[in-house]
Amino acid sequence: MNSFSEKIISWYKINKRDLPWRNTKDAYLIWLSEIILQQTRVEQGMSYYYKFSKTFPTVKHLAKADNEDVMKLWQGLGYYSRARNLHTSAKMITEKHKGKFPKEYKDILLLKGIGEYTAAAIASFAFDKPHAVVDGNVFRVLARVFGIETPIDSTQGKKNFYALANELLDKKHPALHNQAIMEFGAIQCKPVSPDCNSCPLNSMCFAYEKELVSALPVKSKTTKVRNRYFNYIVLKNKGTTSIKKRKEKDIWTNLYDFPLIETDKELTNDAFLESKEWKKFIGKNKYIVKSVSETYKHILSHQKIYAKFWEINCSASLEKIIPSSAIIIKQKDIHKYAVPRLIENYLAVKFKN
Ligand code: SF4
Repeated sequence: MNSFSEKIISWYKINKRDLPWRNTKDAYLIWLSEIILQQTRVEQGMSYYYKFSKTFPTVKHLAKADNEDVMKLWQGLGYYSRARNLHTSAKMITEKHKGKFPKEYKDILLLKGIGEYTAAAIASFAFDKPHAVVDGNVFRVLARVFGIETPIDSTQGKKNFYALANELLDKKHPALHNQAIMEFGAIQCKPVSPDCNSCPLNSMCFAYEKELVSALPVKSKTTKVRNRYFNYIVLKNKGTTSIKKRKEKDIWTNLYDFPLIETDKELTNDAFLESKEWKKFIGKNKYIVKSVSETYKHILSHQKIYAKFWEINCSASLEKIIPSSAIIIKQKDIHKYAVPRLIENYLAVKFKN
């Protein structure tokens, strides 16, 4: 074992958090935890992990589940494509591998939604296969300790970091080594202001010696963020309302939201009610604007959504107004549908039956 691996493993044995997915060799549960933790911090992820592992205790249970139930359980985590992939892969495992999680890295990698990192995590944690994990924590630790300035989001950078991670991996104890380096990055070598003075690696750490801790790792790209302006139309008539399932090729595929008018800039309330989009939507139907919400700002990785919710009371039946993609439901049933976090926030505060 090299001294880097030796040091992080000793550190890990003393400092590791007791997390439920660390006490199992069940590849399915490890996979669940990994996909959930790509979305959220450990504290929040824990409740999702318990919910999923209780509702779907095995991969076969998940494969048999109704997709709407899986999405509903995932609600609030974001990146809903990950929940869809989880479900698709559970079906693949049941059909192609007779319900047994594949053991080999290359077979795990063929599952939908599983990249190099997750495949290495499952292969090593569940089956002790010698594959090094490289996630954000590992990039940071390696960049700092070994003084690597190649951007972590470049092709060359990824190649270099993967090669180094595999070279350092303790091949006899890959699960322990991988857990240790990830935990070390999460708790000790944190992104901002790590406590380098107490760090067991400081005598061999390039960044610490050269005072480059805040400069490493290096990233080349900055993410372009697109602003979007949503006007949700919350129609109400005799205890009913209308929702629609979102289509593919946009955010929140297959989740439900309200009929939507998207504009290319934020409009004042008066300007919105004068817009041709609104007039086309409402036609000649009589309506009363019961309320307009404040603007909800919702941030995604590549988009900023500015949303207003228009509560509209209609005297006509909603069938006459709603777009063909929408459905009419009882207002009291709205909580049965899987919705994005933005809609969930609105429902929690503003939506009264
Ligand atoms: S000395 Fe500081 S920068 Fe270097 S590994 Fe330790 S915590 Fe990270």
